Amino acid sequence: MSKTPPLEQKRALERLRALDQERMHLARVTALLQWDEETCLPSGAVEERAEQLAVLEGLTHEKLVNPEVGRLLDNLGDGTGLETAEFPAGDFLRILRRDYDRAVKLPPEFVRESARAAGLSQAAWVRARKNNDFAAFAPHLEKMIDFARQKSVFLGWGCSPLGDTRGSVYDGLLDLHEPGLAEGDIAAVFGPLGDRLSALLRDISARPQPADAFLHHQYEVEKQDTFCRETLRALGFDFNRGRLDLSAHPFTTTLGFDDVRITTRYAAEDPLSGLFSVIHEGGHAFYELALESALRSSCLAEGTSMGIHESQSRLWENVIGRSRAFWKGWFPRFKEFFPSQLEGVPFESFYRAVNMVRPALIRVEADELSYSLHIILRFELEQQLFNNTLTVNELPAAWNTAMKRRLGIEPAFDAEGVLQDVHWSMGAFGYFPSYALGNIYGLQFWERLTADLPDTDAALERRDYAAIHEWLREKIHHYGRRAEPSFLIRKICGGDLSAEPFLHYIEKKYTELYGL
Ligand code: ZN
Repeated sequence: MSKTPPLEQKRALERLRALDQERMHLARVTALLQWDEETCLPSGAVEERAEQLAVLEGLTHEKLVNPEVGRLLDNLGDGTGLETAEFPAGDFLRILRRDYDRAVKLPPEFVRESARAAGLSQAAWVRARKNNDFAAFAPHLEKMIDFARQKSVFLGWGCSPLGDTRGSVYDGLLDLHEPGLAEGDIAAVFGPLGDRLSALLRDISARPQPADAFLHHQYEVEKQDTFCRETLRALGFDFNRGRLDLSAHPFTTTLGFDDVRITTRYAAEDPLSGLFSVIHEGGHAFYELALESALRSSCLAEGTSMGIHESQSRLWENVIGRSRAFWKGWFPRFKEFFPSQLEGVPFESFYRAVNMVRPALIRVEADELSYSLHIILRFELEQQLFNNTLTVNELPAAWNTAMKRRLGIEPAFDAEGVLQDVHWSMGAFGYFPSYALGNIYGLQFWERLTADLPDTDAALERRDYAAIHEWLREKIHHYGRRAEPSFLIRKICGGDLSAEPFLHYIEKKYTELYGL
C-alpha cells in the first residue's frame, strides 16, 4: 500500500510514536490519581476526584481517536522496512491499530451513555447487595447486558449490521480480555476441568480437615507488614521501582516503566491473607517490571492479556507460595516473627493448614482447588445470558443450582450468591474466565519451567528465585503486548490451551495432602 519514500515513512512512525507516548503518559497519570483514590484520598474529596478522572479519561480517549492517528496508521501499513533492533515497529502498528479500531468503532454517544448507566448500576448493586434485594438490581443488570451486547456488535461480533461478523456476541466480549480465545475453545477446556475438580472436591469433603486454630490467633498487623516487605524484597521486588501500600481491595497498577505499585490489606486473625495478596500482586508486578526497554512508554508496555497476567500472579501465589519447598525456606523465619502464635506447630501441620480445601460461597475467599469452580460457574452463566438461554430473572436460581452442582453448597441468600461480585454491575462480561485461564496457563508454563530448571524445588528451599525470574522474563515477560497468549502457549509449550498440567498438579498435590 505504501508508496511513501522511506524517509517520510520514518518520520511518520516517529510522529505516531510521539502521539502514542503522549496518550500513554496521560493514561499513567490517570492511573496515579486512581491509585491515590484507593490508597489515601480523603473521603470528602471523592466526588471532585471522579470529575477530575472523567476529564483525564476523556482526554486520553481523544488522543487515541485522533484522526491523525488513523491517517498515520493507514500510511504506515504493517511497518515493512521500519523494523529496527531498537523498536518493533510491526508489532507496535498491529497493536495500536487494534486499540484504535476498537475505540473508533464505538460511537461517542454510546460510550457516554454506557458509562453513565454503569455508574448507576454499580450504585444499585451496592444497595442491592446490602439489602439482599436482587429484584432491585435486575433492571440495571439487564441494561448492562444490553450495553455489552451492543458494544460487541459495534466491534464487529454477533449480528453486525455491517456484515463483518467474526464470532458470537460473547466471543466479542471474551476477545476484549483474552484476544484469540472463543467461547467454544474455553468451554471445551472448562467443562471437563469443572467435572474433575468437582469430583475431587467431593472426595476431599469426606476426609477429616487438618487443624488450623494456630492460624487464627492474634498476629500483630505491623509485624505482618514487616514480614511481607521482607518476603516481597526477597522474592525480587525492587522497591526503587515500585511500592507496597494498603487498600480495601488488593490491586496492582502500572504508573510507568519504573513505577509499578501493589497494595494489600491485613487481618489480625488471618496472617496469611495479607501475605498471599502481596505475593499475588507481586506476581503481576514482576511481569510489568520485566518488559524490554524498547517498549518503554508505548502501547506495547504492559502485560499481553488478563489471562496471562493472572497466570503470573497465581503462579507466584499458589504454585510457588503455597508449596512445601517455599515454606521450607520461609517457615523458620515466619516463626521468628510470631514465636508464641506458632509455638510447637510442626512444619507439616503448618503446610497442611496453608493448603486447606473447604468449599466456600464467596469466590475471593476460595482455596486453590475450588477457585476455578467459581469461575467456571460464572462463565457458563454468562454464556447462557448472552446466548439467550437464561433470563436475568432466572439468574439467582440458576446460580444456586450451579453452586450446588459444582461446589456442593448453596447460598442461603443472594448477597452471598449471585450478588457477591462487582464485575457484572460494571458491565464487565467475559472478564471472569481470565482468572481460571490464569491457573491453566500458569501450570502449562510451570511444567516447562521445571523441565528446563530441574533444580527449582531446591532453589525455592534456599529462597533463591533468580532462575525463575530469568526464565519468566525470557519466555514471557519481555514481550509485553508484542506476543499474543496463543503465541506464548505454542512457543513455550508446543501445543494449545490445555488444562491437563493444572489438573495433574492439583490432583497430585491434594491427593497427597488429604490421603486419598
Ligand atoms: Zn490478579
